[in-house]
Amino acid sequence: MADPRGFLKFDREEPAKRPRTERVRDWREVYDLTPPDERNAEVRHQATRCMDCGIPFCHSGSAGCPLGNLIPEWNDLVRQGHWAAASDRLHATNNFPEFTGKLCPAPCEAGCVLAISPMSGGAVTIKRVEATIADVSWEKGLVEPLVAEVSSGQRVAVVGSGPAGLAAAQQLTRAGHEVTVFERDDRLGGLLRYGIPAFKMEKKHLDRRLAQLRKEGTQFVTGCEVGVDLTVEDLRAQYDAVVLAVGALRGRDDTVTPGRELAGVHLAMEHLVQANRQVEGDGPPEIDAAGKHVVVIGGGDTGADCYGTATRQGALSVTQLDQYPLPPETRDDDVSPWPTWPYILRTYPAHDEGGERKFGVAVKRFVGDDGGRVRAIELQQVRVSRDPETGVREVVPVSDEVEEIPADLVLLAIGFDGVEEMRLLDDLGIELTRNGRVSCGTDWQTDAPGVFVCGDAHRGASLVVWAIAEGRSVANAVDQYLTGGSDLPAPVHPTALPLAVV
Ligand SMILES: Cc1cc2nc3c(=O)[nH]c(=O)nc-3n(C[C@H](O)[C@H](O)[C@H](O)COP(=O)(O)OP(=O)(O)OC[C@H]3O[C@@H](n4cnc5c(N)ncnc54)[C@H](O)[C@@H]3O)c2cc1C
Ligand code: SF4
Repeated sequence: MADPRGFLKFDREEPAKRPRTERVRDWREVYDLTPPDERNAEVRHQATRCMDCGIPFCHSGSAGCPLGNLIPEWNDLVRQGHWAAASDRLHATNNFPEFTGKLCPAPCEAGCVLAISPMSGGAVTIKRVEATIADVSWEKGLVEPLVAEVSSGQRVAVVGSGPAGLAAAQQLTRAGHEVTVFERDDRLGGLLRYGIPAFKMEKKHLDRRLAQLRKEGTQFVTGCEVGVDLTVEDLRAQYDAVVLAVGALRGRDDTVTPGRELAGVHLAMEHLVQANRQVEGDGPPEIDAAGKHVVVIGGGDTGADCYGTATRQGALSVTQLDQYPLPPETRDDDVSPWPTWPYILRTYPAHDEGGERKFGVAVKRFVGDDGGRVRAIELQQVRVSRDPETGVREVVPVSDEVEEIPADLVLLAIGFDGVEEMRLLDDLGIELTRNGRVSCGTDWQTDAPGVFVCGDAHRGASLVVWAIAEGRSVANAVDQYLTGGSDLPAPVHPTALPLAVV
């Protein structure tokens, strides 16, 4: 039984961050490494704030955790210091809690009953408790490889090694199938490896999990684009089922603004992949913000990652542009009532490290120098609206005034258009939907028999927590397909609505 007065005894406390001046000089994670005993004591207090509500909105449903994490249960176990039991309950629903504990935007916290009124001091720091349980689990050697006792004799190919593919692979291997993960990149992890910067999650956490998967029997092949290096014919001949976890990596480009063709204007991912490669030891990036005025176009998460990366590379200035107006600091119940994901200003640690954000502005023109390189950007104040009949988004200037700001490096972080075109899909006879996704039936099976889909490839660019949830669910479906039944959990249904947290 939780302490019903815990939230009256302890205030909500976020984990401490390393000093700004220190962290911008390296690629290590932003959060302070508080000594384990002190950290555990603090987090036990935070977990004590959970009231174990009759209806825990945090733990599932459209506003809670997509994985169905048993949040009140592990909060109470942490409160009592039962870390091993908490680890057990957390891993029961989440293959990779250290990934979500570091990266998830935590829709669970938006749905926490303590978030309804400011009088209660704010939501339980669920994400922090989750991250700490994961840390303690590794520190105490509680994360063991779980090797299947019986082999099914069935072979599964998982295409793509992002969080969706890894979750599906781990579940299917543990169910006794012979699983091989194919990855076209030279290293495993998908966006966890080459998209998300190390200052949000150091890659050692990914490598540690990959070692666990290997010990359990999952096999990995890197540098192999399925459909090209391994033909669909061979794939079909060698495997009894195929899981497509190929992501939604087609970066949205700006096809209308004059000057887009200038040197120095790049898609965000071109910048982030190279920066991540440098941290992995692959040598200096070609797209480097050092000594440059950097402008990041797009107000979302990817933009914030470019922002923090440019700061660390030694940019002269960093400016992030958003077409939408400055959101409110707190939830407006008329716009996004509790327990839904609130429409509020999202400020990431990167934004506290210098630089500037501008809202309600759009680029009129990229201005080049005589050598064909971008040197500035012309900006206009704009209003964004939607045509009430067609729903089409319109960006309309609100004045003729134009502001010019210096820009030697421009990064377009304006979203993703879905799954990339690839030979694999053509040869499987799979067509993308209008919005660039791979569709499936209620059994997660695509139009190609025995071929399943999960993660961003299925739902469009989304979140790590959704990728893991879909990977777990698709594993259940593949297990049923191969054996006629399954004990594997299926936290989400393929028609679960995309959460407005991207
Ligand atoms: C810059 C950035 C920052 C983000 N930050 C966060 C965050 O902080 N928190 C959060 O929750 N989410 C974040 N996301 C979103 C999150 O990373 C994705 O939702 C998640 O990684 C999707 O997982 P996935 O496994 O479906 O696909 P991906 O991670 O995209 O992995 C797909 C993999 O498939 C491989 N592949 C594709 N085709 C083939 C083929 N034919 N053969 C072999 N391999 C193939 C690709 O190389 C890739 O490695 C971020 C995304 C970006 C771009
Ligand atoms: S995975 Fe995300 S939504 Fe689920 S409990 Fe953790 S932080 Fe909350």
